[in-house]
Formats: sequence, C-alpha cells, structure tokens
Amino acid sequence: MESWDILVVGAGPAGGTVAHHAAGGGLSVLLVEKRQQVGFPVRCAEAVGREGFVAELGGDPAFFPDGPEEDPAPVFLADRIDEGELVSPGGRRARLQRPRTGYVLERKVFDLMLAERAARTGAEVRVKTRTVGLERADGAWRVELCGEGRGETVNCRVLIGADGVESKTARWTGLRGPWKTDELHSCAQVLAAGLDDSLRPGCVYFHLGAYIAPRGYAWAFPKGPGRANIGVGLRGESSDATALEHLEALLESHYPGASILERVHGCVPSTPPPKRIVGDGVMLVGDAAGQVDPFSGAGINWALEAGRLAAQTAVTALTSGREPTLDNLQDYQRTWTQRHRREHLKLAKVKGFVDSLTDDELDSAVTAIAEAAAGDELGEFSVGRLLRQVLRHAPGLLWKARKLL
Ligand SMILES: Cc1cc2nc3c(=O)[nH]c(=O)nc-3n(C[C@H](O)[C@H](O)[C@H](O)COP(=O)(O)OP(=O)(O)OC[C@H]3O[C@@H](n4cnc5c(N)ncnc54)[C@H](O)[C@@H]3O)c2cc1C
Repeated sequence: MESWDILVVGAGPAGGTVAHHAAGGGLSVLLVEKRQQVGFPVRCAEAVGREGFVAELGGDPAFFPDGPEEDPAPVFLADRIDEGELVSPGGRRARLQRPRTGYVLERKVFDLMLAERAARTGAEVRVKTRTVGLERADGAWRVELCGEGRGETVNCRVLIGADGVESKTARWTGLRGPWKTDELHSCAQVLAAGLDDSLRPGCVYFHLGAYIAPRGYAWAFPKGPGRANIGVGLRGESSDATALEHLEALLESHYPGASILERVHGCVPSTPPPKRIVGDGVMLVGDAAGQVDPFSGAGINWALEAGRLAAQTAVTALTSGREPTLDNLQDYQRTWTQRHRREHLKLAKVKGFVDSLTDDELDSAVTAIAEAAAGDELGEFSVGRLLRQVLRHAPGLLWKARKLL
C-alpha cells in the first residue's frame, strides 16, 4: 500500500495551494482530483479582491511576473476590476469607481497553474481519481481511491479535505454533517459573448431584487471585450423558481442578444464561521470548511490563505516528529479563527440585513449609495463604509439595521 505524508482531496484553489506548500516543506504529497481536467468546468464568477490575492500570490513570479505592484500574468487574467455598478430592482444605479479593486480570473487556467506549481514543487497530482471511502487505522488514514475504473487504497498521515462544497471528507471524518438548504446559495451561470453594448470594460455589475435573485444577487463580470461571466445565486428555498429560471429572466431583461458559450450550476456555502475544521490527522480547507465570505460568496482568496495555513501547520507537526493529532494540528484552526471569525460574523450579519430588504428598500439603499458616490463620500471602499452611507442617506432603514449597530 502506498504511504504519503499528506493526501489532498480536490485540486481547486485550496487543494492546489496546500499541496504546493506542503511539498515545499519537504513532505510527500498526493493531490487527487475527481474531474478529468483540473479547473473545468468553472463553477465560479471568478472575481477576486486585489489585496487578498496579492497577499497570497504577489511574491510568486509565475503569477505576478512584473512584481506585486503590477497586474497578474495575462495568461489567467480575464479582466481588471476598476469599478462596480449596483442595479436596484427599480432600475436605479450606483456607480462605484475604484481602479484596480480586483481581477476577474480565467479559473480554467488559474486552477491548472496552482496544480502545476504543486507538481513542480514535488507533489504528485492524479486527475480522474476520487476518494470513495476512508477509515482511521493505526494513527493514520486509510483512503480508498477510484481512478480510471480501478480502485486502490493508500495510507496518509494527514488528510486534507479540499473537496469543495460537496465535501465527503467533512462528512466521513465526522467534522461536519451535510449543509442545511438555508446554508447554501444555489447558483446558475453562463459564459456569454456579444455583449459589447451592455457592458463597460472593467466594470462588475450586481443586480438586486426579488425578481432577479431573492435573498441573493445576480452578477455580470467582464471577461474581455463583449464577454462576461453572468450568473444568479439565491439562498436555499427563497424562490419557487430555480436559479436557472431567474438567470434566464436576467438575461432577457438586461443582456438581450447574448450568445451563451457555457452553462454551469453550482452551490456556494453561506454560513456562520466554521466550528470544527481540524480533527485527528485531518484538516478541512476552502469551501469544504465553509471558508466563504457569506456576504459576497467569495471564497477564492480565503481558500488560498487557508491552504497555506493548513500546510504550514502540517509541515510544522510532521517535520518536528510530532504525531498529527487534533492537538498538534489545532494551530491551523486557531490562526484561522483569530484572523477571520469576527469579520466572518460581521459579514453574515450584513448579509442578513440585505436579505431582509424589500425591493423598495433596495431602491432606497442603491439611491443612497449613488448619492454618497456622487458626493465623493465613500472614501476607501469597504462593506462597512457602504453600509454607513446607506444608513446616512436612507435613515428609514435604521430599524432593520439595528442588529448591526
Ligand atoms: C456560482 C459560483 C460563483 C462564485 N463566484 C465567486 C467569485 O466571484 N469569487 C470568489 O472568490 N469565489 C466565488 N465562488 C466561490 C469559489 O468558487 C470557491 O470558494 C472556491 O472555488 C473554493 O475553492 P476550493 O478549492 O475550496 O473548492 P473547489 O474550487 O470547489 O474545488 C474542490 C475540488 O474538489 C474536487 N473533489 C470533490 N470531491 C472529490 C473527491 N471525492 N475526490 C477527489 N476530488 C474531489 C472537485 O472536483 C473540485 O475540483 C463562487 C462559487 C460559485 C458556486
């Protein structure tokens, strides 16, 4: 039976990152991915904030060949985000201009680059290989793999569940049960072309309202001239219609004439901060751990950060001759909690507030933001600042926002 220090399940941003940092720390690493191609299909709107992205990858010349002050490599960069536009149910618009706030990625290429980097550092990568079962035996994990129709069992000292929102690792190791319907946003998205007249380059559009995306939002993120990743995400059972039906309505009303090049469905966790992401010989990272900003649904930057932190903890434990017990892996959970718990809780509350707004109230909120933007009152962009401006210009919403104050 093969034995590995680390077995990483899933080659998304979290898995590719853990595998790279763990292999770089001198551990033997196997990274398995059930799909036949890393990074495809893309279940993601592909936008990242610049600050968190640069913090994780800015020092790597493969990703930032001209250094962290410049934009990332064109090979995985679909567009730069220089402004955002909020569109209210009644058609009011607020335009927020902030050059280089973030990027829209080509995740097909980006995820592949992360896995390739892990391979270059020394990890073994196997696609079309899924985990189908596991058990704890003699202080290690015995994991059943199925690849190309044949099964095998491998041993690992530390198992990393980077298997996304559908994580079986979380369930099989007892770290978490299945998500409740209300803890997930169900999404439908398309890659669309022929949109030259309806998009400004470098502008990300957010559409709000019960008709478009009840208790969620719809997005149109640019991917080069006339192309965009357009989608809808709505919480649990907030609508009688499916996410796809809402998306069709959005395309018809706001992006008529779009040619659809790709269609995908997916889910994103929208939960309070994760409680247990570490057990004996096991750590969860990325979506598997619920490390997703519950307000925006963004998880890429957190997945990169969590992947690095989990790998550092595993390397420290294993290279210092300690057993990877729950106690010896706790550093990862502690660090994550210190860095993100408060922020995560705050974003979950803001999300609750926005979800509670009626269409009329969303119109008022977007008008308030437009007024604040016109008066140049927004300053440095942040969710907290936006919210303060909304409440200043639309004090009628204060009662609903009382839990945030
Ligand atoms: C529609 C949508 C839009 C989104 N938009 C954004 C956005 O704009 N910006 C942002 O930051 N985030 C966004 N997100 C969230 C983001 O996609 C995730 O947070 C991010 O991909 C998490 O990375 P991950 O590595 O944890 O998981 P994933 O990227 O989901 O990777 C998990 C991998 O594990 C593999 N896997 C699963 N089970 C097994 C198994 N048993 N064996 C082997 N392999 C397995 C899967 O095939 C997959 O490749 C969006 C999500 C959705 C669904």
